[in-house]
Amino acid sequence: MQPVLYIVIPCYNEEEVLPVTAPLFGEKISQLIITGKISEKSRVLFVNDGSKDKTWEIIKKFAAEEKYFIGISQSRNRGHQNAVLAGLMEAKLSADITISIDCDGQDDINAIDEMVEAYMNGADIVYGVRSKRTTDTFFKRFTAESFYKLLNRMGVEVVFNHADYRLVSKRVLEAFSDFKEVNIFLRGMFPLVGFNSTVVYYERHERLAGKSHYPLKKMLELAFDGITSLSIKPIRLITKLGILISLLGVAAAIWAVVMEIIGDTVAGWASLVCIVSILGGIQLVSLGVIGEYIGKIYMETKSRPRYIISERTENCDDDIGESD
Ligand code: UDP
Ligand code: MG
Repeated sequence: MQPVLYIVIPCYNEEEVLPVTAPLFGEKISQLIITGKISEKSRVLFVNDGSKDKTWEIIKKFAAEEKYFIGISQSRNRGHQNAVLAGLMEAKLSADITISIDCDGQDDINAIDEMVEAYMNGADIVYGVRSKRTTDTFFKRFTAESFYKLLNRMGVEVVFNHADYRLVSKRVLEAFSDFKEVNIFLRGMFPLVGFNSTVVYYERHERLAGKSHYPLKKMLELAFDGITSLSIKPIRLITKLGILISLLGVAAAIWAVVMEIIGDTVAGWASLVCIVSILGGIQLVSLGVIGEYIGKIYMETKSRPRYIISERTENCDDDIGESD
């Protein structure tokens, strides 16, 4: 049986580019159906993220004209990550596999073939990874690559140069729906779900029309959200810094006492240096310790699943409920 594929496409104020790219997605899905790679029931699912222009009207028009096109609309703009999430959760009901992709034609849609093939070969998550960034400006490339490095340093596991172009199977989505957090950073969360994963490389192009919605300010916000919603490493850094400063404080205090004994100081200097340097360290350590507890509370409030089972031996089902 061929899998049912849903291509999930977030759209925010995309009236310029949607008429150009939607037919390309339509062609891709019908070509995959004709060649027998995916089921007839596959769809392109557009998610209107509270656009202020004609995006939703365009989506409705496409859905009326072409049976492979369907759409949902969010009540207001909630940002790219939430739009993708809404689409994935909607698609989970009917699809065996989903592929999330931007609507601006930047991600090469021909990688979809390879992603489906990787799924057929046993991968549950296939990450689309940019092979090179020649179309990006030096500034965009530099900031984006530093972004991935910083995330990894801060304890957020992300696939280098992978954004949100990825294939995810139904069972991954089902496990993922138990991740109840509100601040979401999808590319850092899917690696936490686990299961077999692989990568497919593709070239990133320029936008076919319209403007980017991710200026530097938004990219920095995304990086900050990514780190603070997935990691408590920054808190650990405060504790470590506190310990280091305490040690330096003790050294400074010893030095101050020695200088005092030698008599090379003004009155009161040694005691002031001792107090300031040691207290500074102690305060930072204390902040770090309090932070550790807040970090634990924070992680608990996410109430993420504590385990996810990927496979069972065939005889497992038989055992359940058999008591004789
Ligand atoms: N997008 C969205 N909601 C937003 C901002 C963006 O759904 O609030 C969509 C947008 O329509 C596009 C994708 O997210 O399909 C990526 O946005 P964009 O191309 O502007 O970002 P860039 O590729 O420049 O990083
Ligand atoms: Mg884009």
